[in-house]
Amino acid sequence: MAPGLPGFTIVGLADTALQEARERVRGAIRNSGYEYPPRRITVNLAPAELRKSGASLDLAIALGILVGSEQVSANGRWAVLGELSLGGELRSMPGLLPMVAALGRRTVKRIVVPLDGLAEARLACDVDVVAAATLAEAAVLLRESRRGRARVQPPRVELAADGLGERVGSDRGWGIGVASEMGPDLAEVRGQLEARRALELALAGGHSMVMIGPPGSGKTLLARTVPGLLPALDDQEARIATIIASVSGSEPLTDLVRARPFRSPHHTISYAGMVGGGPLLSPGEVTRANDGVLFLDELPEYDRATLEALRQPMEDGEVAISRVGRAAVFPSRFQLIAAMNPCPCGHAGEGDGRCRCQPGIVDRYTARVSGPLRDRIDIWVHMPRVEPAEYVLSGAHEGSDRVAARVVEARRRQMLRSGRVNSRLSGRALRGACALGQAEQAHAVRLAEMDGWSARGIERLLRVARTAADLEGVERVAETHLDEAARFRSPTGRCLGFAVAG
Ligand SMILES: [Zn+2]
Repeated sequence: MAPGLPGFTIVGLADTALQEARERVRGAIRNSGYEYPPRRITVNLAPAELRKSGASLDLAIALGILVGSEQVSANGRWAVLGELSLGGELRSMPGLLPMVAALGRRTVKRIVVPLDGLAEARLACDVDVVAAATLAEAAVLLRESRRGRARVQPPRVELAADGLGERVGSDRGWGIGVASEMGPDLAEVRGQLEARRALELALAGGHSMVMIGPPGSGKTLLARTVPGLLPALDDQEARIATIIASVSGSEPLTDLVRARPFRSPHHTISYAGMVGGGPLLSPGEVTRANDGVLFLDELPEYDRATLEALRQPMEDGEVAISRVGRAAVFPSRFQLIAAMNPCPCGHAGEGDGRCRCQPGIVDRYTARVSGPLRDRIDIWVHMPRVEPAEYVLSGAHEGSDRVAARVVEARRRQMLRSGRVNSRLSGRALRGACALGQAEQAHAVRLAEMDGWSARGIERLLRVARTAADLEGVERVAETHLDEAARFRSPTGRCLGFAVAG
């Protein structure tokens, strides 16, 4: 603060929202019973070369001015976070939880947060968080010593003492039925026994899957049962999911995110919406689906570049995004489940002459899903039209409960054996996990030679076969498991236009 013509300048690569802090801070100070000092005010945001964005620094700027003009005194070392309204009320902002956690790691142990973000901020461990509803309340807190602070503390959110380092796959965390939006029950899906089995395999082993079938065959309905079939997140996964939700969300969180993510972005989604980016370097769908399922309906309708951008995150389990001067790496361990028609009209391959698409058009349609992307799909399943008789007459199918229980058990076996789901195994770890006998090895070679698969194709076969064996609860992969995996490896012939790269 300096003498001279009254003014207010913010330097240090602030974006528009942050530049507008000047107006919010001025209004908030005046409306909180303090004097706005008639001096030259310069706010310097360091380090200078790093871009700053958003409104999370409002409170810090306002308190800085009040301390600088000696209207407020600060006792000890505090961090303050929050957006101000013109009237002086404090509001929470996206990403509060990771900010609090990062401050805690930097040994700032006392943090003032907006009252509506208190529950979220308290999800971070080992940090002394206090809440203020207004600028005036925050100023009072700053003066006080550690003890004897004014505001009543709400009860700490039950985090179960957070067993950091607890082993992934321990019994806890694999419970069923905590997802809030469970979708329809599997019992509502008529017919489609093969697709139901394919979905069970996919979820049990974390395998990527594509369903191909005409409109009305139940692809979307089947996909919507997924949230009810997925096991809850374990503690470590829940922490990561909660941070991702904090950064992506508009509403402050109140508790750990326990439901395994199920994201189904529309095919009009932008590139940045899918992989992440934009002015705030926000996480995209591949990150919001981390440790869960990314469902893409009408797969060929997505923008080609957007689909291609899925390959790297699928392979690496993380995605690097950058914008001018900033870069970030986000987790993206998602499982891809997709649905598509066999041709633009949807009826190719049914042999009933209803498809009116020109052959060239069909090829071009299916080719929108590129070879390298197809090559990353473990399970292909064809879903024929459901015949009226089958729809009306077929008896009751298994409900979601029983399938979910098998999925949980199969995943538990994988975690105990390898510490990861089968879809993330490769090389020696995969061969070791399969424990193929000589007869089974010969059988796998026969299958591979029959369809001309590459080494990559064989690995995919082994992974799915391993999951089939896990669902059955057996330690060694047998020929029947290999056969089943092979059935879901080759849609060629049954699904028109698709020659899957081996
Ligand atoms: Zn057609």
